[in-house]
Amino acid sequence: MIVNMAEGATEREISHVIERVREAGYQPHVTRGTTRTIVAAVGSGRRHEIEALQAAPGVENVVAIAQPFKLVSRQVKPHRSVVRVSGVPIGEDRVVVIAGPCSVESREQLLDTACAVKKAGASMLRGGAYKPRTSPYDFQGLGLEALKILREASELSGLPVVTEVMGTEDVDLICEYADMLQVGARNMQNFNLLRRLATLRKPILLKRGPSATVKEWLLAAEYLLAGGNSEVVLCERGIKTFETETRNTFDLAAVALARDLSHLPVIADPSHGTGKQSLIGAVSRAAVAVGADGLLIEVHPCPERALSDGPQSLDFAGFERVMSGLREPLRWLAEPLLVTHRASVERGNGVGLRQVDQSNPEFSGWWN
Ligand code: PEP
Ligand code: MN
Repeated sequence: MIVNMAEGATEREISHVIERVREAGYQPHVTRGTTRTIVAAVGSGRRHEIEALQAAPGVENVVAIAQPFKLVSRQVKPHRSVVRVSGVPIGEDRVVVIAGPCSVESREQLLDTACAVKKAGASMLRGGAYKPRTSPYDFQGLGLEALKILREASELSGLPVVTEVMGTEDVDLICEYADMLQVGARNMQNFNLLRRLATLRKPILLKRGPSATVKEWLLAAEYLLAGGNSEVVLCERGIKTFETETRNTFDLAAVALARDLSHLPVIADPSHGTGKQSLIGAVSRAAVAVGADGLLIEVHPCPERALSDGPQSLDFAGFERVMSGLREPLRWLAEPLLVTHRASVERGNGVGLRQVDQSNPEFSGWWN
């Protein structure tokens, strides 16, 4: 249930409502906007007592939360959230590009990649240390050694790093080395892992499960917020369908839908979403056009030698081309739209362009 306070409700009236929500057996979650305050009653309690708050002073109305997810819902928090990963804001007016190899394979491989992706305009570095592989005979990741290499690459390049955590037993160790923890697609509904990550003060990148509906994905995010960690970024990475030409079917509409339903930032992973180098550029542009707050792209110094996900990894030149190609939408947009970016998406125009990465002088001012 949501208690919408009237414009100009006093602090005393707001505190009273919070107190009554607690008394009714719910957890109060307060969102303060510029003109209005919303008090959400989350959990299970005595619903009729919340409904009765309609008559309390300073209350505009009481409405039900339409969706099963609550804290991730835009109904509870209408304004978009920004998640900061060691200084890099995800969800603000620029597309954050996270790039790097599927797996960390060696010090040289990662340092070279960090340098190349930074030069091309990436704001964060990725690399797997613990790999979820379909076959137990495939490369499983370098573990702790990879974490150390990731940290070194981060210090040298200045790029914060994200890496996957597969099990609760690895959480503490990974937290020592990574700026953000990735929950991989296969673990989206590992509820024990989600509950553990909810207790951290670390941003989480939550990938959509290969067979998960958008609702299930948002409910997985709800575990993190309900447990106390609201630093969550959602990542669409393609789902299983009958199509076999692509590795997964990248669900473009889900990017826009998740941003409609939730205030959390949403990024797109065209690498796992397609499985094909040749499609990364087009799908990246499409994702940005529907409002993605960022992109996760696999880059390897020599994809043909990659120990995992070579066919979908870009080499350095390919990555630079994709970054440059993000300029292309300007050509097909009508003149008046050239000056619009996030504001346009927020107004519901559906098409928006934003700066790709202002930290790289080469890219600044593209969209202005
Ligand atoms: C990855 O990011 O390398 C990865 C394994 O992703 P996903 O969980 O989306 O398959
Ligand atoms: Mn991969």
